[in-house]
Amino acid sequence: MSISIQFLGAAGCVTGSQFLVTAGDHRVLVDCGMFQGSPEEVARNRIPFAFEADALDALLLTHAHLDHCGRTPALVRAGFGGRIHATHATVDLAEIVLRDSAKLQVEFTERWNRRQARKAEAESEATVEEIDDESLPERIRSAAPEGRTDTREPLYDERDVETTMGQMRGCDYGTEVQVAEGYTAVFHDAGHILGSAIIELRVTDGAERRTIVFSGDLGRDESPILRDPTPITHADHVVVESTYGNREHAPHDEAIEELVTAITEVASDEGVLLVPAFAIGRTQEVIWVLDHLVREDRIPRIPLYLDSPMASRATSVYHDHPETYDDETAALLRSGDSPLEYPGQQFTDSVEDSKVIRYAKRPIMVVAASGMLTGGRIMHHLKDFLPDPKCTLLFIGYQGEGTLGRHLQDGGKTARIDGQEIDVRCRVRVISGFSAHADQHELEAWLAHFAADAKPKTIFIVHGDPDAAEAFAGRIRSNLGMEAHIPKHRETVSLV
Ligand SMILES: [Zn+2]
Ligand SMILES: [Zn+2]
Repeated sequence: MSISIQFLGAAGCVTGSQFLVTAGDHRVLVDCGMFQGSPEEVARNRIPFAFEADALDALLLTHAHLDHCGRTPALVRAGFGGRIHATHATVDLAEIVLRDSAKLQVEFTERWNRRQARKAEAESEATVEEIDDESLPERIRSAAPEGRTDTREPLYDERDVETTMGQMRGCDYGTEVQVAEGYTAVFHDAGHILGSAIIELRVTDGAERRTIVFSGDLGRDESPILRDPTPITHADHVVVESTYGNREHAPHDEAIEELVTAITEVASDEGVLLVPAFAIGRTQEVIWVLDHLVREDRIPRIPLYLDSPMASRATSVYHDHPETYDDETAALLRSGDSPLEYPGQQFTDSVEDSKVIRYAKRPIMVVAASGMLTGGRIMHHLKDFLPDPKCTLLFIGYQGEGTLGRHLQDGGKTARIDGQEIDVRCRVRVISGFSAHADQHELEAWLAHFAADAKPKTIFIVHGDPDAAEAFAGRIRSNLGMEAHIPKHRETVSLV
């Protein structure tokens, strides 16, 4: 087995992308993502890496979403000292995302440790009460073991991010880069978020040569701001995402109509439109569309709160990288428009500012993270607005299994937030046409380009719930006549 790939994340699930390519003595990792969503998924981030971190030659990142880059500082902490290759824009965005993540990791861990300490204290007190004096010392020792081995270290902290950033190397789209002995990579437009890339990895081991194409997360042709995903025509093997492998999105035009309806409704009710959005990607696109709609007079100009400091920082990175824009956005900029801003949008820097949004004169729109309602400022807005029939909770992005977002999107009538049971009386709307991910048809169309040359030997289907991956595998086999394989977690496949 000379050239092989091992699937160490996003295999049988959506998050935690991590693929190890081995050729002889050299190893390159593609993506080093966090598992996100349900508590069971999140717990997987604590499982040690499946390989020696210091034996890795290089890491390539497809884009700056946490489920693709979020464990990188943990890899560095574990001893990886090699280069990290990504597009220039991904390097800039990753710095924002990873610093924020490091802060959260430290906070989570402190909270966890405090909780464990309280628990141990309560247990030892309970033990003291119910036992007699003679056995006391021993019983206490068994109730609270020496040194309390149950304290945790954070996955990583800001110092690890600092070291990680020192290892990053920005590259241009479409340019071949040597990333390790026997490995070259070309980053192509993926059209998903700023800096996102499809990675074409060429691997040589003696006389063996393989080209493996990683789709990363694929965007949609119709999405604004960024260039469309690049069609690739040749690969020996393809690793493709399947987030929406079993679904078709509504067309972008239809999504815009639905957004107009939602805004008009909230405006006439003098209510609140609450949009959970990921700080990077979704937020900038929605604002791009809102700016468009206001300029075309298709929606009333109601105030917009951009309630996410990370989203504001990400928007400024978007400003820094006009080289990634599609023709339409580039033309708007040249004509003096600022398509990444909604007229008069208000930024809320502090949590206090965020909490007083509830008193703002209505109607208003609020865009806040996190996108799947797994934490962040959106949580206090939910407490205020979920019970209010004049409000609309509007989903525009993917909701992971086991998240509060998925529960509400599926019609949940109550929501549990900070131990409180909240009634859901607001309207809940879902617009699928703004997705940052290609749908079944678009994924298939992108794969179809490979048939122009020799068909790839295998299409590996990753980054999808089992139903989506299965359905997509069926389509690939029947419509494209290609060999589709859904790898299991930790499965190694020899690339012949
Ligand atoms: Zn992504
Ligand atoms: Zn992803």
